[in-house]
Amino acid sequence: MNILLLGPPGSGKGTMAVRLQEEFGFIHLSTGNIFRSEMKNETELGLKAKGLIDAGILVPDDITIAMVKSHIKEGTNYLLDGFPRTIGQAEAFPHVDHVIYFEIAKDIVVKRFADRRTCEKEAHGYNLVTLPPKQEDVCDIDGSPLIQRKDDMPDVVSKRFEEYMEKTHPLAEFYRKKGILVSVDAAPAPDVVYEDVRKIVEGLL
Ligand SMILES: [Zn+2]
Repeated sequence: MNILLLGPPGSGKGTMAVRLQEEFGFIHLSTGNIFRSEMKNETELGLKAKGLIDAGILVPDDITIAMVKSHIKEGTNYLLDGFPRTIGQAEAFPHVDHVIYFEIAKDIVVKRFADRRTCEKEAHGYNLVTLPPKQEDVCDIDGSPLIQRKDDMPDVVSKRFEEYMEKTHPLAEFYRKKGILVSVDAAPAPDVVYEDVRKIVEGLL
């Protein structure tokens, strides 16, 4: 069974994926992981993709889809994350059985990222609200200064969110019409969101 986790960046679906893997033994399929493994193993598709990426060309859908398909084995439960990401990919990849959509407003995502701090030396992660350092602006582990990454700045996050809504959000409607999408409120704390997600998954397995 293949469950697609769908939601904007900052909706926390990555965290949910990790917890679902731990509790239910799902295999997490992200295109990033698949690309890396195919390239490392120097498969035909992997080498093709590497050539394109090295040349700065976006890997076309047919190669991406072929790579994902080659990783799926019958009788295994997978979590798909970051793929399919367009209607075109979804139409060419009819192997999505269920979709969990992580619903969240832009201002909440912007605030989430704005609270993030990263240590300069080892990139240890903090959050001013949920995981503050013991001493302000200093890494607990190595004492190096905490910085706000450019990617976490409100204007960058806001732009990424809008891009997602424009390019990937139409997928939610696509799967809703198929009757295989369930929405989850992704605004509460991770433990609360996970309880909802777990109930949904238990109902599917
Ligand atoms: Zn550190």
